[in-house]
Amino acid sequence: MRSLIPGDWYILFTCTDCKTRQIMFPDLSEGRADLRATYKVECVKCRHVGKYESEELERYQHPPNADPMPIYGIAFFAMLSLLRSFGWLRHPGRISSVRRL
Ligand SMILES: [Zn+2]
Repeated sequence: MRSLIPGDWYILFTCTDCKTRQIMFPDLSEGRADLRATYKVECVKCRHVGKYESEELERYQHPPNADPMPIYGIAFFAMLSLLRSFGWLRHPGRISSVRRL
């Protein structure tokens, strides 16, 4: 069991079998990403493995002033394709600010 972190963004999907809405993964781009991929995910509840186009996914920001909310679980996912990663490689600031002694 994990918790949602207030202020953080998540990508949600709805299981096509049991209709459970659940977290697919944290959205590290904070909602700015252009998701273009097909994701294969196993439902944490009914174990149904479904394929979801990025258009079917839902962005969700947990309200910054909310308490951490327990969620059902984070499904493991396999990316069949991922065009233009959504921000994971776009944080060079931290690295370039490291100075040599
Ligand atoms: Zn399900």
